[in-house]
Amino acid sequence: MRDVVILGSTGSIGTQAIDVALRHPDQLRVVALSAGGSQLDRLADQVALTNPARLALPTEQAAADLQAILAERLISAPQILTGPTASADLARLGCDVVLNAITGYAGLESTLAALEAGSRLALANKESLVVGGKLVTDLAQPGQIVPVDSEHSALAQALRSGQAQEVSRLILTASGGPFRGRTRAELAAVRVEDALAHPTWAMGRVITINSATLINKGLELIEAGLLFNVDWDAISVVVHPQSIVHSMVEFCDGSTIAQCSPPDMRLPIALGLSWPDRLGDVTKPCDWTTATSWTFEPLAHATGPAVELARRVGRLGGTVPVVFNAANEVCVDAFCAGEIGFLGIVDTVREVVDAHIAQANPRPPFDLAAIRAADAWARTAAHNTIGGER
Ligand code: NDP
Repeated sequence: MRDVVILGSTGSIGTQAIDVALRHPDQLRVVALSAGGSQLDRLADQVALTNPARLALPTEQAAADLQAILAERLISAPQILTGPTASADLARLGCDVVLNAITGYAGLESTLAALEAGSRLALANKESLVVGGKLVTDLAQPGQIVPVDSEHSALAQALRSGQAQEVSRLILTASGGPFRGRTRAELAAVRVEDALAHPTWAMGRVITINSATLINKGLELIEAGLLFNVDWDAISVVVHPQSIVHSMVEFCDGSTIAQCSPPDMRLPIALGLSWPDRLGDVTKPCDWTTATSWTFEPLAHATGPAVELARRVGRLGGTVPVVFNAANEVCVDAFCAGEIGFLGIVDTVREVVDAHIAQANPRPPFDLAAIRAADAWARTAAHNTIGGER
């Protein structure tokens, strides 16, 4: 039996993680949940279903509102930690596994806290690894971070097929998002609702927009470089619209090992919670009784400049990935608010990254203070750039 803490429980990953845990009550016990407070009815449902000992919410008001909902529904209220660091405080208490499924930079302190507490970290919140960089990887014991991103879970599974020194290339697959094959001119007219319509995955708002711009694939490239410690040029991205091959590892003898399963995040979530073991009956396997075809194509640069930008950002390291992520978070909000066009997202991120490289030394000292300063600088710079474009 493993005790599990789920951070960001009300989101897309969090709700699927609860589903996995409830289907495996002999192996997984949910002991604590955290959320951002914008979906308190859903959180109350989750409290009723999992009966956790603790919750974490960012404000006293959210905690009071939740308590009122629980009282009205005659559900007994667990202990509630509150405050801007409540999720990290929860992670710091330690547990068998902490799943970090918070969106964005807000998940950084929880990642650091879970690692410091010695818990296994099932990591969906790739942004915390990207911005935390060496701070996170130096803190982690070997095997302490288990990726939940389907691509990195696939890589971790495929890497079991050989020795580290036998790996010659990691191949990340990309669905290509909703705009595969479109030219830059066609992309200029993309609307928010078009970008939110992902062809194969149902996910939270930020990652869905990031998938459309391919910033998500860029974040994943940096995540792969940090997690698996391979050279930045030894990570490729290939478009695979069916999202069944979740990624591949090429070995030195020319063999390529792929991990395949129908697109369902419960598989990598379950593996993240149970690693290195597998749980039974998590999702339906591939169906080999009907004819099917899987296709692969190179990434077109017009629709995918974010990936090469991310490779440059990952190689530079230090505060550059922090700036890349922060500028993107600002741009996603601005795009959703109608303040910039679709192409403005990656264009602005590139502009802010270039300005940071030009004005700052992105090399050490690299610590939490440097990360916070770079994050704040990039958010202001992105707002200013967007303001200038309006
Ligand atoms: P969602 O937007 O669906 O959910 C985000 C969750 O984080 C919600 O529970 C939200 O709470 C909570 N949250 C937001 N801010 C805070 C905060 N400051 N403190 C505590 N909780 C907070 O996102 P997803 O589930 O889609 O994505 C989560 C992470 O997983 C992201 O990093 C994403 O890139 C990654 N990921 C997601 C995949 C997917 O299929 N969805 C696939 C691979 C990776 P509330 O809404 O209640 O306010």
